[in-house]
Amino acid sequence: MPSQASILIHSGLVLTLDQSRRILRDGAVAVQDDRIVKIDKTTLVRKDFRADVEIDASHMIILPGLVDLHVHLAQALIRGCADDVSLIAWLRDRVWPLQGSYTHEDGRVSALLCMLEMIKSGTTTFLEAMLHSRYGFDGIAEAVERTGMRGVLSKIVMDQAGYAGSEQIMHPGMMEEKEATVNETLRMHGGWNGKANGRIQVRFGLRSLGACSPTLFREVSALSRERDMGMTMHLNEVREDGEFAERAFRKRPVEFAEEVGLLGPRMVFAHMVWPNPGEIALLAKTQTHVAHCPSSNTKLASGIAPVPEMLRAGVNVGLGCDGGPSNNSYDMIREMKLAAVVHKARLLDPLVLPAEEALEMATIRGARALGMEGDIGSLEAGKKADLILVDSNRPHLTPMTNPVSHLVYAACGEDVHTVIVDGQILMRNRVLATVNEEDILKEAAKRGREVIARAGIDIQPRWPIA
Ligand SMILES: [Zn+2]
Repeated sequence: MPSQASILIHSGLVLTLDQSRRILRDGAVAVQDDRIVKIDKTTLVRKDFRADVEIDASHMIILPGLVDLHVHLAQALIRGCADDVSLIAWLRDRVWPLQGSYTHEDGRVSALLCMLEMIKSGTTTFLEAMLHSRYGFDGIAEAVERTGMRGVLSKIVMDQAGYAGSEQIMHPGMMEEKEATVNETLRMHGGWNGKANGRIQVRFGLRSLGACSPTLFREVSALSRERDMGMTMHLNEVREDGEFAERAFRKRPVEFAEEVGLLGPRMVFAHMVWPNPGEIALLAKTQTHVAHCPSSNTKLASGIAPVPEMLRAGVNVGLGCDGGPSNNSYDMIREMKLAAVVHKARLLDPLVLPAEEALEMATIRGARALGMEGDIGSLEAGKKADLILVDSNRPHLTPMTNPVSHLVYAACGEDVHTVIVDGQILMRNRVLATVNEEDILKEAAKRGREVIARAGIDIQPRWPIA
């Protein structure tokens, strides 16, 4: 990894996302090692700071790196393999058989491909939702170390073969034994948590209702408290989750989660499309976090999560891209736009979820959900140097009337010019510094074809190919 002790990024339009949400014209950010040491007008920062590397950010927006709060690294390789089908068929007939055919090398290459896409579209930190042993945890953690990203890796824990009310539907290649999943999570936590200068964290990835017994939920929540480990889980993603919980436990999903000890600031629930007002109040009271995934939820017709209602109730909600077969991209800038517009249409109210709130969800709220608000999510002296530069010298971003509006409503990941994580330049002028893009693309194309062949699934465009 190229290493420089200090960087001065100057003459840019800085969105600080600090307490008062200051925007600096002709602003500069001074980086020493892995931290921001000064942030102010360029003339003031230049006065007493000499840098090894200077980056001219004229015509650029400088903002905190984006936090993707719900990602499946292993699904980058199977993008477009499960379009326009229902969630259960999506899982049972496509995603599970494909992922159930993975080798460790497939898992590693898919993670590299996914991180390549994330870096190129401005994501600097992500929460991986559920890694199966067959993807090879060590290889994936090494890939995170190599790319330079900040990654929270969740290892699947499970002990049943169901999904919500559908029993015994799990593909055999996706099954894991209870003891093995818990032990492996703890082993990975021991080996990787805090590694790479703190860039890698490890947490529990509880599979879902129907795939975990109440006993397992209780055991994992106790371990999470004892060892101060985070957890994540898909919950209330589809209406069937609620129907299943009411039938099996006589409770709503969030009420059941409270009963087995899952609620609290260590938990990030992905999706949360179908909570009732009582469940929303419970999430707020217990400071449980939510990852909103609007592309995935709309494409799979799961529904539209009541995000303005959750935010109003005091629930911390971040944003997630989910995966290659559900979104099908890992571009948080595009995800911000959908989050900002879809609720306006649902509630017939153009005032809900303004651009500023969408950007907060993609930065500071995501950081808070991961317990990292003290280090990332905004640009402030003392915080980690995780930041991105967006090139605004483009037709769709000109004239620069309002940078927040332009970022959320007009920009896309391709506009990201430079990415810095932990004080290291990962991409400059869209060229990757830590990995070879061509090599990853070549390897991913080959492995993607091999996985489909191994799973024995015929995936063709619906239109005839001449
Ligand atoms: Zn997911």
